[in-house]
Amino acid sequence: MNIGIVGLGLIGGSLAIDLHHQGHTVIGVSRRVTTCQDAIARGIVDIADTGFAPLSEADIVFLCTPLGVIQETVAQLIPHLPTTTILTDVGSVKQPIVEAIAPVWPNFIGGHPMAGTAESGLDAAQANLFAHRPYVLTPLDSTPPVAIQQLTEIVQSLGAILYLCKPSHHDQAVAWISHLPVMVSASLIQSCISEPDPNVLQLAHQLASSGFRDTSRVGGGNPELGVMMARYNRVELLRALAVYRQHLDQLMLCIEHEDWPALETQLTQTQQARPRFVDEPLSNT
Ligand code: NAP
Repeated sequence: MNIGIVGLGLIGGSLAIDLHHQGHTVIGVSRRVTTCQDAIARGIVDIADTGFAPLSEADIVFLCTPLGVIQETVAQLIPHLPTTTILTDVGSVKQPIVEAIAPVWPNFIGGHPMAGTAESGLDAAQANLFAHRPYVLTPLDSTPPVAIQQLTEIVQSLGAILYLCKPSHHDQAVAWISHLPVMVSASLIQSCISEPDPNVLQLAHQLASSGFRDTSRVGGGNPELGVMMARYNRVELLRALAVYRQHLDQLMLCIEHEDWPALETQLTQTQQARPRFVDEPLSNT
């Protein structure tokens, strides 16, 4: 199969590595010439260019640019594509992307591989990034079944765990488990660094261990991605943040009133709920 990848960064580069390794012809398009040269030198693409012309024979094209440029990229790309080409993106928000692209390209299916690292760019790309990780596709009732079938096969060939859902449901779910945690974790770091006593702050730096590492990880990631989540999933993220603030207030009230039984009830509920979200063993730290 001829597979196009637009945006050879962490996600696009990782897709290129796996799909090229499987024997597909991979055609890369990226903004900078040096990135295209680098991708060819690494042997993860067959062709790479800064223009879209080489994609005229692509069976499937993955849009892997930052969210903010996906729409304008599609406008420049589609004059080069045969109408049979399946177009998909990897953006972490789906509703606005699907709403913008599906009307102009019926063979478009929104996608979101739920895998990544704190790094970005082609240097961060790695083999098997998507293996055993969720990969969400958000086809519409109008999406041609053959396009869904072909993309499904590619996603499964990456070893990913496929989920199909509505774009709006995707955005609501990721607001809870991905976008809210980024903002909560960022505010945790902000709170810690606002400690006015430099001696206490230095001691906190020295004492921080696995508990702080776990809870601060996503707040210390790529700022551009965080801004894009907030911009494109603004309504759902604000709704989640408002609910979060209510729960934080409830915890504060329990502590202010020294209502330890109520606090214990809440922490017991969260202890019981957590394993349904994550299956790793609980840490004591
Ligand atoms: P990234 O590492 O920064 O890669 C994006 C690449 O796109 C850059 O390397 C850049 O390549 C290229 N690019 C930027 N603007 C472009 C343009 N106008 N035209 C063509 N190429 C352009 O970012 P990423 O983490 O892979 O994220 C890419 C997409 O994946 C985003 O939509 C994001 O929502 C989604 N996503 C990210 C993660 C994650 O954890 N990082 C997880 C799931 C989904 P040059 O070097 O050529 O400038």
